[in-house]
Amino acid sequence: MVQSDDGKRRSVRVPVLAKAEVERVLVVIAHPDDAEFWLGGTIAKWTAAGVGVTYCVLTDGEAGGFDPALPRAEVPRIRRAEQEKAAAVLGVGEVSFLGLREGELEPGNVDLHRKLVRLIRRVRPQRVVTWSPEWNWKRFRSCHPDHLATGTLTLQAVYPDAGNPFAETGLRCREELTAWTVREAWLINSPAREINHYVDVTDVFDRKVAAVRAHKSQVGNRSDLAGELRQRIAANTASAGLGPGRLAEAFQVVVTG
Ligand SMILES: [Zn+2]
Repeated sequence: MVQSDDGKRRSVRVPVLAKAEVERVLVVIAHPDDAEFWLGGTIAKWTAAGVGVTYCVLTDGEAGGFDPALPRAEVPRIRRAEQEKAAAVLGVGEVSFLGLREGELEPGNVDLHRKLVRLIRRVRPQRVVTWSPEWNWKRFRSCHPDHLATGTLTLQAVYPDAGNPFAETGLRCREELTAWTVREAWLINSPAREINHYVDVTDVFDRKVAAVRAHKSQVGNRSDLAGELRQRIAANTASAGLGPGRLAEAFQVVVTG
């Protein structure tokens, strides 16, 4: 047992940065709604504690949804609005949309790499959250190619270029963005063997549900959204060493600096 970031003792395997060491968190995701489903409760706790949270949403998720009557050309605008609403529910300070096409994210995209390095140097987060770049065979349908690519691209921006003063020197000269070393990466949908940190979100679970519900074009047809979300994370309770009825979100925390 070691101390987790809310000061309580958990059955985790790695220590994480202390509360006082984390002023800013950058969350880089592939689609609108990724953050709320996977770490909505954790974000609510961070912002309540005064941590500044910034989202970077790489695509507009234009292939998502359930309603064939929805004009597809309208989907990007709708999903951005839903993402902004969800972010507001969780107290997120800034949402940045890069507007890339769903299904087309690829590691090796030099332009996107530079945009992510620029964003890290501008936001200067101590902690970055993103998708695991690893296949999780236990949650195959969470391994969207965009998720894996987002994880790879984000981690490749964290290291080496964001923190290397001799890389991407154009950013420094033209935009006065100096190198910044991210200290921790928190990965979502990592294979179970890699999960090493849990956050108890029981007390903010209602806000997580409200934030997910803001993505009406994606979940507006769910009759028991709260029940589904509870079920999604119920398996974490025992692994996190929590008592019955408690709820936790799970992460693989990687020391990056
Ligand atoms: Zn997604």
